[in-house]
Amino acid sequence: MADLILWDATIVDARSSSPQRRMSITMRGGKIAEVCKADHQRPGDEAIDLGGAYVVPGLIDAHIHLGDDPAMMGDLAVPLAMRGEAPHHRELVYFVLANAARAFLRSGITTIRDVGCYDDNAIVLREAIRLGLTEGPSILSCGRIVSATAPGAVLFKSMYEEADGPWQMRQCVRNQLRRGADYIKVMAGGARSVLRENPEPAQLDREEMDALVDEAHRLGVRVAAHAEGLGAVRLAVEAGVDTIEHGLSLHRAPELLELMARKGIVLVPTLSTFHDVAERIADRFEPHLVEQAKRQKEEAYKTLVAARDAGVVIAMGFDSGPPGADALELVRMVEGGLSTHEALRAGTMGSAQALGLTDAGTIEAGRRADLVVLDHNPLDDVAVLTRPADLRAVIRAGRTVAGSL
Ligand SMILES: [Zn+2]
Repeated sequence: MADLILWDATIVDARSSSPQRRMSITMRGGKIAEVCKADHQRPGDEAIDLGGAYVVPGLIDAHIHLGDDPAMMGDLAVPLAMRGEAPHHRELVYFVLANAARAFLRSGITTIRDVGCYDDNAIVLREAIRLGLTEGPSILSCGRIVSATAPGAVLFKSMYEEADGPWQMRQCVRNQLRRGADYIKVMAGGARSVLRENPEPAQLDREEMDALVDEAHRLGVRVAAHAEGLGAVRLAVEAGVDTIEHGLSLHRAPELLELMARKGIVLVPTLSTFHDVAERIADRFEPHLVEQAKRQKEEAYKTLVAARDAGVVIAMGFDSGPPGADALELVRMVEGGLSTHEALRAGTMGSAQALGLTDAGTIEAGRRADLVVLDHNPLDDVAVLTRPADLRAVIRAGRTVAGSL
């Protein structure tokens, strides 16, 4: 007995740039059970006739920070002491997270990878969703970000766990798994948002990075490396991490892009975050950091095209807010020179590869039944994915979680 059958769907996914028309998608037990030509099958009573509407895989955001963006936290992000109000209860953050989780679903984001948040919030939300306490996307969490002793830890507090030397690196990896992490995130170099850090050189030495990657891979989890400058990127790529976060300097090192393509290391370019520091929330940063972000934005767009041309897998990482606006990253990829199909591939299959998910990102039998139904073809204009009103329905694990069919 099928849970849901979509009849006369036009499938658009990463595998082909020409839509497959008049298809039938059968879902069972949260998975896609069968995909076939609608012509060969009569729609039973339980089948929903989509009348040719477009169906794309649920989007996957490979780089978000749960509860970090002021747009997500609203007034909760701002200390209220100046207004004479008592501070908010810290626990309000969980309601904010639950709202964010629903906003992701409404926008067709069915999987997110949290790359660092305060106080294990992502793990708490992941568990709340798993236990059915609230509705939301599938969540992967890194636990705390592994960092060398560095100025960033003063700012980011419980988002970080500091470690120095190869054995502390190994222990720090083990600590994250103990906490409930799904993968490891490491600061290979400094962060552009920290005045006293230089994003160009590596923060870890080779022995430390090798130990971290070895320990994570030995224990069966992947490694995401925050790496902006060339020193950081080179260390991470050569150590064999699984994803490079930001990686804007890569256009200066074609040999590293080649190595990434060969090893299957995914690039998460996070174009939107540079627009944030350079433009959207520039008033929150020191002028030096704003100027730096403007330069980095130019570099990030150069790297986007250079990585595509080198055959590197690209993933969607919004690294911005508000939650649910994530597909803006795909619009920016197209503005930067990718085709709409390449952008859609980044937001689906590319991100699935970044997360190491072999059962997501395309519309095939055996994959998760995470789907978005649209009235317009996203290959004509990828911006339709940024407009919740244009999404007819969002299906997660074979169930309609937003809109209606
Ligand atoms: Zn980030």
